[in-house]
Amino acid sequence: MTKYDYLIVGTGLFGAVAAHQLTKKGKTCLLIDKRDHIGGNVYTENVKGINVHKYGAHIFHTSNKEVWQFVNSFVEFNRYTNSPVANYKGKLYNLPFNMNTFYQMWGVKTPAEAVAKLNEQKAEECAKLKAKCEKEGVAYEPSNLEEQALTLVGKDIYEKLIKNYTEKQWGRKCTELPSFIIKRLPVRLTFDNNYFNDKYQGIPEGGYTQLIQALIGNCEVRLSTDFFEHKAELTALADKVIYTGEIDRYYDYRFGHLQYRTVYFETELLEGVENYQGNAVVNYTDAETPYTRIIEHKHFEYGTQPDTVISKEYSKEWQPGDEPYYPVNDARNTELYAQYKALAAKEDNVIFGGRLAEYKYYDMHKVIERALEMFA
Ligand SMILES: Cc1cc2nc3c(=O)[nH]c(=O)nc-3n(C[C@H](O)[C@H](O)[C@H](O)COP(=O)(O)OP(=O)(O)OC[C@H]3O[C@@H](n4cnc5c(N)ncnc54)[C@H](O)[C@@H]3O)c2cc1C
Repeated sequence: MTKYDYLIVGTGLFGAVAAHQLTKKGKTCLLIDKRDHIGGNVYTENVKGINVHKYGAHIFHTSNKEVWQFVNSFVEFNRYTNSPVANYKGKLYNLPFNMNTFYQMWGVKTPAEAVAKLNEQKAEECAKLKAKCEKEGVAYEPSNLEEQALTLVGKDIYEKLIKNYTEKQWGRKCTELPSFIIKRLPVRLTFDNNYFNDKYQGIPEGGYTQLIQALIGNCEVRLSTDFFEHKAELTALADKVIYTGEIDRYYDYRFGHLQYRTVYFETELLEGVENYQGNAVVNYTDAETPYTRIIEHKHFEYGTQPDTVISKEYSKEWQPGDEPYYPVNDARNTELYAQYKALAAKEDNVIFGGRLAEYKYYDMHKVIERALEMFA
């Protein structure tokens, strides 16, 4: 029976970077995944030459030079810059909020005009909130997300670009959501549609699956293999286990289920349509459109294929069994995770890492940083 130094449960970014680092040190690794493909959530599937981001749009961005050089040593990244467009009742606005957005919203042409308009709109909302708080005899403070957003950017931007999108995402009214969800709403007084502020940004040419494959190298991989269905036999194969699945599942939900926010996609191949929406990401910020956004995958790589693939993204209340996407960082879940983490800390031969095992939203560059740090 082959004996490995490590059994890595999960072939996502965390597992793949761990495999790479350990192999470099002369260790042997066996990777398994319950899915029938490698890559975890960054997996891209080639459909008619288009790399489809199967588990949602993934844009790589980082300010960490070491991480940027690391990923570029495996695959070439293109110059893709995330510049989403919002569609509100058929009218288009650039995001994030910048001079283009303000021009489209109010016709203002200079930063001074934009600031004046923003200040006028904010002042109106602050006055309303002040009057309300005085009437109720409470301290001046936004009591929910709606009040918070209104006082930060005013009525027009809130109602056309924030309100409905946020309500679709969370499945709740903005007046019922806590104000802390939106701490700041940065506005940019330049004509710059680049969503991220990071120094480096791009998409791997040929898709993320190639990056994962290059990281895994020649390690043995067993797909469609659920760790829990063969736990005893798999653990016997290696000295240590690196576990990147859900931490509550590892402990058989002993303290209860950790909750997630989830999304799902309706993906369509549009044959003979060369260019459906002219941009990779278009957000639908009205209440009537049931989905939150449409992704047109070919634009991540400047594709010129004769067909196109689009995914409509919907938000949905998570239930056990659904795809766990975004951890919910409220008091209940934080406390529950702390209980599981305490159990994990007592394990001698199991290392927990990645977004599911650490119950933490990690961007890709952060998960890579974490794995590089853990297996330095
Ligand atoms: C919708 C969405 C969009 C995102 N967009 C971006 C973006 O634009 N930019 C960015 O930087 N980051 C983005 N991210 C974050 C990114 O997806 C994560 O950083 C990354 O996928 C984390 O990698 P991971 O290895 O920790 O987890 P995963 O990719 O989830 O990998 C875990 C793997 O473990 C496997 N597994 C779990 N349990 C078992 C088991 N019992 N047996 C065998 N295998 C198992 C799973 O099948 C999976 O393949 C996004 C995340 C989501 C949800």
